[in-house]
Amino acid sequence: MSTPWHILGAGSLGTLWATRLARAGVPVRLILRDDTRLAGYRASKGLTLVEHGVAHTYAVAGETSDSPEPIHRLLVACKAYDAQNAVAQLHHRLVPDAELILLQNGLGSQDAVAAQLPLARCIFASSTEGAFRDGDWRVVFAGHGHTWLGDAAHPTPPVWLDDLHAAGIPHQWSADILTRLWRKLALNCAINPLTVLYNCRNRELQAHQCEVATLCAELSELLECCGQPAAAEGLQQDVERVIHATAANYSSMYQDVANARRTEISYLLGYACQAAARHHLKLPHLQQLQVRLIELLVARGLPRD
Ligand code: NAP
Repeated sequence: MSTPWHILGAGSLGTLWATRLARAGVPVRLILRDDTRLAGYRASKGLTLVEHGVAHTYAVAGETSDSPEPIHRLLVACKAYDAQNAVAQLHHRLVPDAELILLQNGLGSQDAVAAQLPLARCIFASSTEGAFRDGDWRVVFAGHGHTWLGDAAHPTPPVWLDDLHAAGIPHQWSADILTRLWRKLALNCAINPLTVLYNCRNRELQAHQCEVATLCAELSELLECCGQPAAAEGLQQDVERVIHATAANYSSMYQDVANARRTEISYLLGYACQAAARHHLKLPHLQQLQVRLIELLVARGLPRD
């Protein structure tokens, strides 16, 4: 039998990957937070994927971190702020040369995970797929997209990309995954915090073009300074394109705040501001944006990080 995929986190993306891999006959094990979640999962019929309005349920095996089986391949599908602790709980089960695929948005969590497993291969991913949970163990495939995967230290693609192909997960091995992650972070910093502060859909940022342009100029300066000039190229035009293309959408950060969920601010705007401070770079508008956003989060009773 081929190497099983252990999937850490039965949330939106974890379920989206687990169901498609299982559908293709690839062995999958779902790792749940604790015995209570496992009991809840076992009482269900499995994981359900709703695609084009049609629901299919897959009987994926569930377990907790206490299960004895060694882990060779781990898809980390937690939020950025949970990734490090969640992986630490599995430390004793990971074989020394394990492969981890890190799906987290933003930057910072990937390096934190990699630092605790110096012998493992950590593959970073950046995805434009969109999914949300409309019930426990059930995910709606809301936006078809693409996933880029890469390993800045070792450019050789892993053999298991064949599993993704078999599962119909659109993907590409990327030689410049860090550039992609930085670019996505910059797009996120220019759009998402403003949608929270102005309490609006992406479309309404067209009325704040000057503010968006100023942020893009500062973000471009940051990217250049961080050795990512390719991620800075044409940033403002790309931001304007994304705002236009996603005009009717609410950003992920807007949705987190609207649903009183913790945001991933520390791995997005927070990471950008910290990188600027490390380089003694003064980016007043970006820093002010962070202050305003944190004030709003605190006023809503949400974590500031
Ligand atoms: P999510 O729906 O909140 O799922 C996260 C899952 O991780 C939850 O099921 C949570 O368990 C689980 N988890 C947390 N700590 C755990 C632990 N110690 N052990 C086991 N499970 C644990 O999040 P998501 O939307 O899939 O997002 C995951 C990452 O992908 C984020 O960084 C996000 O920004 C990124 N992303 C998401 C999308 C999307 O469309 N959803 C698109 C692109 C990128 P419980 O269910 O028990 O709380």
